Amino acid sequence: MKDDCLFCRIIAGDIPSSKVYEDEHVYAFRDINPQAPVHILVVPKQHVSCADEITGENSICVAHCFEAIAKIAGAEGLKSGYRVVNNCGSDGGQTVMHLHFHILGGMKFSDKMI
Ligand code: AMP
Ligand code: ZN
Repeated sequence: MKDDCLFCRIIAGDIPSSKVYEDEHVYAFRDINPQAPVHILVVPKQHVSCADEITGENSICVAHCFEAIAKIAGAEGLKSGYRVVNNCGSDGGQTVMHLHFHILGGMKFSDKMI
């Protein structure tokens, strides 16, 4: 836990969140500023700042997040699909420096960046 990290404090329960899923490794909650009908943040409990900090030592946290993503998408009824987004660093638009994956769903996305 990093005391000055917003998502570490949410995981610790110091800051309230709308939790949708939790297990030993992962915490997930609704984004406070949703960009789609379903907008959930999936966060490893281990503090890793961003995708650029993933190493052979900590990469298991990414697998745990994606296992959770599949479960959450099922529970949210996202049968037709969804988008998973990671912003990395300032050029990538990351605003909270604790690795997280956005699940965006409940709508058909027309804007295709890639
Ligand atoms: P990013 O810009 O990729 O770093 O994503 C950070 C996300 O965290 C943004 O979509 C914010 O709306 C969201 N966010 C910031 N503070 C909170 C909070 N207290 N509870 C839920 N979501 C938050
Ligand atoms: Zn953190």
